Amino acid sequence: MKTPPLQRIKPEVRAVPGYHLKAYDCPVKLNQNESPFDVPDILKVEILKTVGERPWSRYPQPMPTDLVEALARHVGWAPEGLIVCNGANTLVQLVLAVSTSPGVPIVIPSPSFSLYGLYASIFSGRVVPVDLMPDHTFNLPAIHEAIHRERAHTVILCSPNNPTGCIVSNPDLEALLKHTDALVIVDEAYGEFSNSTALDLLPRHPNLIVLKTLSKAFGAAGIRIGYLLAHPNLVREIIKGKIPFDINVFSHAAALTLINRSDLFRERLTAICAERKRVFDALRKIDRVRPCASHANFILFEVDNADAVFNGLIEQGVLVRNLAGYPGLSKALRVSIGTPQENEWFLNALREVI
Ligand code: PMP
Repeated sequence: MKTPPLQRIKPEVRAVPGYHLKAYDCPVKLNQNESPFDVPDILKVEILKTVGERPWSRYPQPMPTDLVEALARHVGWAPEGLIVCNGANTLVQLVLAVSTSPGVPIVIPSPSFSLYGLYASIFSGRVVPVDLMPDHTFNLPAIHEAIHRERAHTVILCSPNNPTGCIVSNPDLEALLKHTDALVIVDEAYGEFSNSTALDLLPRHPNLIVLKTLSKAFGAAGIRIGYLLAHPNLVREIIKGKIPFDINVFSHAAALTLINRSDLFRERLTAICAERKRVFDALRKIDRVRPCASHANFILFEVDNADAVFNGLIEQGVLVRNLAGYPGLSKALRVSIGTPQENEWFLNALREVI
């Protein structure tokens, strides 16, 4: 009897639903935590010129050293402790691929970014979810408890957390790092929107891995560049699982140009954070809307009927993220911070729908 091909796919993979994002056609798109500001035209022209001058017939470098060095300078960490890949998503996958043996416990606060649990399962890890507090912040005593009870192999903290916007402070993170020998991955995809970063803890904690991306603060989700920071000894092993030549000539040129002009993005960050405060204050004033304080470029808010409000907003031309399917978030929606005009459109639409 032949084994059906589907049975050659691991049961862990067949058991998970995969990552899906339903497409909607809406004029105001605030569902993916993207930047409302595109890469400035002056930089796009420079990038396209550089790409045009490169030979496309040749492989790029297995690891683009000039980009690694520029990113290392940008964050103040050693280039030997840095890996650049096609987005932070790829880095989550890479770290779990090289570190996860079947059945190892992987502690992940819940809810958090859905790809952590998905990849942890695909690589045959055992996901140990730790519920957030009722106010949607991290439950640190419960995280400590789970790490020790399960003898965690890996811990994944998203800070600021997608989709709730809470952070883990450095003193809290350090207390955690001191008491565990698990790999602790801190995903700082939204780090630039907060005043907090785990980077300062890297020299003292060889089990810490920090992930960052150009997708959010640099407004460059389309170029697919993320980077990892950790102790060089750890990086030397993790990098073995990286696909060589994955940074194509376009992404390489674009990322290098953006990093060398990081000054241009500071003003935008300030503008997005100011809008976050304005939107939060406005949400608080709407009856039966309960926004959650956020350190990221999005705000989670609760309403009485998330599905009805989500659909009502779409009818008004505004797309947000419906979180009703997430554990503990049955009344929640998440809105990305857009331009002041987009945010106004969203707030007016929400007042109308509510
Ligand atoms: N980490 C988190 C927490 C995210 O929310 C996202 C994007 N939604 C990513 C990583 C993806 O980053 P990238 O675009 O660099 O793959």
